[in-house]
Amino acid sequence: MLNVVLFGAPGSGKGTQSERLINEFGLHHISTGEVLRDHIRRGTELGKIADSYISKGQLIPDDLMIRILDDVLDKEAAGKEGVVFDGFPRTIPQAEALKELLLKRGTDLHAVVGLEVPEDELVERMLNRGKQTGRADDNIETIKNRLQVYHNQTHPLREYYTTEGKYLGINGSGNVEEIYNNIAENLAKATGRERKGK
Ligand code: AMP
Repeated sequence: MLNVVLFGAPGSGKGTQSERLINEFGLHHISTGEVLRDHIRRGTELGKIADSYISKGQLIPDDLMIRILDDVLDKEAAGKEGVVFDGFPRTIPQAEALKELLLKRGTDLHAVVGLEVPEDELVERMLNRGKQTGRADDNIETIKNRLQVYHNQTHPLREYYTTEGKYLGINGSGNVEEIYNNIAENLAKATGRERKGK
């Protein structure tokens, strides 16, 4: 098993880099943001609740988010070689819960890849993504709130996972392929895996 958290501020490239990681290492991708957006698109009850938080740039409450992830792991991750968690955990209680959720499935979290990108670049990327994809929360007001929430609630996880010896900080600025190569090299080294893509 290889379970990896792709960590970073909104707009740091977690989605883009997740795709490459799952292809090379044969992993399953779970993006909690995508799970929630899918509920919104389908107009479910959960989608309505999620939308009320996402549209303001706030986090979905921990207990609800953890229950959703537990359910997604049951439905999607059983029998897989491992998971790339994209957008989860975003708070310390979520990190504690992830440990439990993996433990009860007889596995563990192996590494946390942190994409480090300067704030002005994050804003520019999200505004561009908003123009290209129409993603509703990629507007300047919501972006500001999301970055504030990131600093207050999510950034402390960098320290948390550094203390656990799991944090791999990666420069997330610049060329997508170079960033990916850096991620894959560091991850392979830290987890004793062979790279398949090389
Ligand atoms: P993302 O696609 O990861 O940028 O997530 C988009 C939005 O979904 C976030 O701004 C939050 O409102 C919500 N969300 C996604 N993942 C989580 C999570 N782990 N905890 C709480 N809210 C989340």
